[in-house]
Amino acid sequence: MSDKPWLAGVLRDAKHSANLQAALRPRLYRPDWDEAALVQAYAATIRSEDPIRQVGACALRHDNSVAGVGYNGALAGREINWENEEERLREVIHAEVNCLAYCRPGECRLLACTLLPCNSCLKLIARYGIKRVVYGETYERDPSSLSTAERFGIELRHICLSQGQPQSPSCEPPSPAGGPVTDR
Ligand SMILES: [Zn+2]
Repeated sequence: MSDKPWLAGVLRDAKHSANLQAALRPRLYRPDWDEAALVQAYAATIRSEDPIRQVGACALRHDNSVAGVGYNGALAGREINWENEEERLREVIHAEVNCLAYCRPGECRLLACTLLPCNSCLKLIARYGIKRVVYGETYERDPSSLSTAERFGIELRHICLSQGQPQSPSCEPPSPAGGPVTDR
């Protein structure tokens, strides 16, 4: 296991996450579709090369089957110098975009994202006719994503899978005092 540090991270997070442990033990607790999709979105993050932030997304069809998953990363065939913050922000393709590439407009009812989607991704989500977004974390307190979602008729649900770590600020809901999300 020493050559798989990400696996150690997943196991460590699971150990501290009462809800995630619960989600992984359906006989003790059966997660709803929102939670199940969010667990799959978190699972997708293990493929992300971004050393700063690994983001995942999972889209469910109207029958709750998985239409696609995605994670943040470089365009296929391109290399990003992850140490270069400017290049990273300019080139990285968001998890939501990579996930929706597997979906057709109107095909899905729900997108689960490990991070509250940015404004640009919310517009794309609306374009795909998705009316419900569940998310796990907020990087910055970003009120503009909330108002964008409302404007496009997208229902947001915040699910904190790491309730075992109450001091974690990333699970706090955004407050109107915040600024825009930029670090993705
Ligand atoms: Zn985005």
